[in-house]
Formats: sequence, structure tokens, C-alpha cells
Amino acid sequence: MTVVTRFAPSPTGFLHIGGARTALFNYLYAKHTGGKFMLRIEDTDRERSKQDAVDAIISGMKWLGLDWDGDPISQFERAARHAEVANELLAQGKAYKCYCTPEELSAQRESAKAEGKPMRYNGLWRDRDPSEAPTGTDPVIRIKSEQSGETTIEDKIQGSVTVSHSEIDDFVILRGDGTPTYMLAVVVDDHDMGVTHVVRGDDHLTNTFRQMQIYTAMGWDKPTFAHMPLLHGADGKKLSKRHGALGIEAYRDMGFLPEAVNNYLLRLGWGHGDDEIISREQAIEWFDLGDVGKGAARFDMDKLTSLNAHYIREASNDRLTDMTWPFIAEKLAGKAANGGRDWVLAGMTSLKDRAKNMIELAESAEFYATQRPLSMNDKALKALSGEGIENLKQFRATLSDVTNWTGENLNATAKQFAQDTDVKMGKIAQPLRAALTGTNVSPGVFEVMSVLGQDESLGRIDDALNGITLNN
Ligand code: GLU
Repeated sequence: MTVVTRFAPSPTGFLHIGGARTALFNYLYAKHTGGKFMLRIEDTDRERSKQDAVDAIISGMKWLGLDWDGDPISQFERAARHAEVANELLAQGKAYKCYCTPEELSAQRESAKAEGKPMRYNGLWRDRDPSEAPTGTDPVIRIKSEQSGETTIEDKIQGSVTVSHSEIDDFVILRGDGTPTYMLAVVVDDHDMGVTHVVRGDDHLTNTFRQMQIYTAMGWDKPTFAHMPLLHGADGKKLSKRHGALGIEAYRDMGFLPEAVNNYLLRLGWGHGDDEIISREQAIEWFDLGDVGKGAARFDMDKLTSLNAHYIREASNDRLTDMTWPFIAEKLAGKAANGGRDWVLAGMTSLKDRAKNMIELAESAEFYATQRPLSMNDKALKALSGEGIENLKQFRATLSDVTNWTGENLNATAKQFAQDTDVKMGKIAQPLRAALTGTNVSPGVFEVMSVLGQDESLGRIDDALNGITLNN
């Protein structure tokens, strides 16, 4: 049997972090078993389904590298097929038309409420003679659910779960206007798409028992189910915006790399020994539904951030430069130095060691690309006053004689200078850093000088010595 899984988001909102995790688990299980992973957009709710949400889901999945097989399937476009199945059940006597008025239904709801029970349709039209049907109302179609016995599912994550049929009423499968309900559409689509494993949030667990009634009535093979525990915040409460329940594009915009988000989502509720860093290939090799935990997984932004820092360090300098350059160029608004991009690339190895996200990385790289004269922050200005500017002036004279402009040689030159003049290295490095970067925090100052090269470094130092700097 070829495994077929699917991700079936409703495009009423963007692809949020919990949905991305459901998509990832479906993807991994399909790849692990050599099966297929499909995407179905559950867009039957025409009022709430939005095209920009569909676009965001698709671009979010692509960004995460969760490629699906075939074209995305629109549930809405399959409405005729859903109605066909409802009518087939009707013809077989496994479903019936219900003409209950809204008043009758609300009376049932009220009395259930008074008894403290959930609303269950009372089966009024189940055995009623159709000749009693009122004219002028569009009936709904309800399934004849089993009235005795129980259903047990062997859920891959939740284990064995049993629900008594007394808890399942004759629910609506086709509305009065001929449109399918979610219960019907999901089952028909999963069946027609050949879905073998339904992996979804455990908020759908109770729906599963209703959906089983449709599979049974149609005589269709039932898929295996795996209901994943929902995400909670680090404080154990239901995930809200405050905890990070944001659209996946918000994570991209906050400067997370897709591999960090994937790795983090994978580790939420699933593990492989003590492994923290898990590549896509390893995830495909190791992932199994049976290893997903039953307890609610806690989403922790700090852990995601530390994984992100790891993946930034691992990423190639070229890729990081490609990713950060548009932001740097935009920020500098046409005032990027000639060769600025090359300096960013050459300095990337140290820059990436310090960044927790791509925004920080772009900000920390900006000084390399800035056209002279640089603007100075307050701390830099301070480092360039009094004793600082004197030290810089003297050291500048020494630098004129340096022929071998490498970080190592510059470091040795500065050490020698410090010894000769009896000035501490820090007292040289601080004004130097200020002149070269306009700030008081940067990678090693001799590395910065070697990246910028002799002309640019001396130019920046001279700007500072001549007081040609811009105020921040
Ligand atoms: N469309 C449903 C949702 O977004 C998922 C349905 C399913 O996976 O069966 O919650």
C-alpha cells in the first residue's frame, strides 16, 4: 500500500505555526514511507475563504520546503461530487431529507440546554413519511447514524479511542441549498484522493467518529488516523498571538531561517533520543507517527531563536549575503559604498557567529556597506574624543607604513605600537572601531580592517580624524 497523506487547511486565515507543524508531520510521514503528500484547500466556506489566505498558505509551504504532490485540490470545486454522494446515500436509504424548521431546531437546542446536554438532533424526520413534507422548504439531507453499538479507532497518536453511537446524532451532510457540510466534504475528498493516513489536530478527534458513519454507510475503506496534540504556549496555556501563534510569514519577516523553523516544529512533540539538530534528511529517515507524544507541546520562542542562531552559523556566506543584501541596500537607500556588498560577504564569517536572526545579521553588516563618511553613535563619538582621538592620530601614522594589510599583521602592528607608546590595546581599538564602524560593537577591529582593505580603512580613519562624520 502506498501511503497518501494530506494537509487540508481552511483558507480563513494565514498558515499559522500550528498548521505548519501539521503540514510538516504529514509531509515527513509520506516521505518516510515513500508515499505521497497532497494539499487540499478547504475553501467551501465562501464567505470566510480568502484568496490572499490561499496564496499565503502556498507561499508558506514553499518557504518551508514542504512540497506537495500534484496540484492543490480545491474542496469547493468538488461540491457536485459531494452532493452526488449525499444523494447516493439518500437513494440507498442511508440518509434522509429533514424538513425541520429553524424554530423546531432551536426548541430542540433549548431543551438540550435545559437538561445540560449537547444538542443532538432528535431524528424527527428519520422515519417520517415523505408525503408529510411541507411544501416550500428546502430540506437538508441527514445521515442515518448507527443507533446502537460503538466505534473504536486505533489512533496512531492517541491510541485506542471509543465513542458510543448514542453520542452521535443524524447530522446534516447536505444543506438546503445543496452545499455539502464539512463532515461530508472531508470524507468524500479523503476517499477520492486515496488518503490512507489522516494526520491532523486533535481538535478534530470528535469529528472523526461522525465521519466514520459516512465511511461505513458508503462501504468505503477507512483511513488510519493520527490526531496531533495542539500547540500550547511556553506557560502551558492555549497558544495565542502573544505566544507566537502567528502566520508563518511573520517568522520569515522576524528573520528566522526555514530550516530552523522546520527543525523546531519537528521537535515539538516528537523526538529522536537527545538529538536537537535534525536535518530534513534525518527527519525523513527517523520520523514515525507512533513516536509523536500525546501531551500538548509547548511553543517556546527562545528555543526557536537559539536553533535559528545555529542555522545562521551553518548557512553559507553567499546565501546569507544574498538574503541580507536587499535589506541593507534598502536601508542605505542608494548610499551603499562601492564594493559594499563584497565587504559584507568577506566579513560574513564573523558576523554570522553573532546573529540570532537575519534582521540582526543585516543590521550588524550595515557598517561594512555604508558609504563614507559614516555617521557615529554616541558611544563612538565618545571613543573619538580626548585621549581616543590622540591615540588614533598616532596609530594612523604607523598604519601608513603597513605594507602587508592582513588582520594578523595589523594586530601585530597594533601590539607593537601599544608597547612602544605604553598605551593599552583597548585604548587603540576603541577609537579605531568607532572610526571604522561608527559604533562600539563589531567583529574584531583588525578583521574589519582587513575586510575593508587599506584604502577604505584609512579613508574612514581620516574622516574621523578630520571630524568629517555625520551625527546619528
Ligand atoms: N480544514 C480543517 C482545518 O483547517 C482540517 C480538516 C482535516 O484535516 O480533516 O482545521
